[in-house]
Amino acid sequence: MENCIFCKIVSKEIPAKVEYEDENILAFHDITPQAPIHIVFIPKKHIESLDKIIVEDIELIGSIHYQIAEVARKLGLDKTGYRIVNNMGKDGGQTVFHIHFHLLGNRPLKWPPG
Ligand code: 5GP
Ligand code: ZN
Repeated sequence: MENCIFCKIVSKEIPAKVEYEDENILAFHDITPQAPIHIVFIPKKHIESLDKIIVEDIELIGSIHYQIAEVARKLGLDKTGYRIVNNMGKDGGQTVFHIHFHLLGNRPLKWPPG
């Protein structure tokens, strides 16, 4: 997708610190971390937001969550806990319109979010 920052990270036009990559998924460190560990998980396929997923994407979204748990274990976050965030649309606070899931950890996180 033209002019999509995350598609450009997938194609390596924009550099990122990659934490995990396979055929369908990329995970990289957020440029403006909101916690000591802040990794963004995306499908390589451009999907605008959670609102735009279709039945064929269910396995992909599931495997992203499986890999989030794998990376969290690799980084030791399973011991203390962590948070997964998906911001959807304007009120959800979404700023990049390529679906992504934030993995935040290594500090206590407040609830409710702002
Ligand atoms: P959203 O607000 O859409 O849920 O999250 C978008 C996230 O992408 C933000 O946390 C922002 O810091 C991150 N981000 C935006 N541009 C870049 C970039 O060029 N590189 C990296 N690594 N992260 C980015
Ligand atoms: Zn994209």
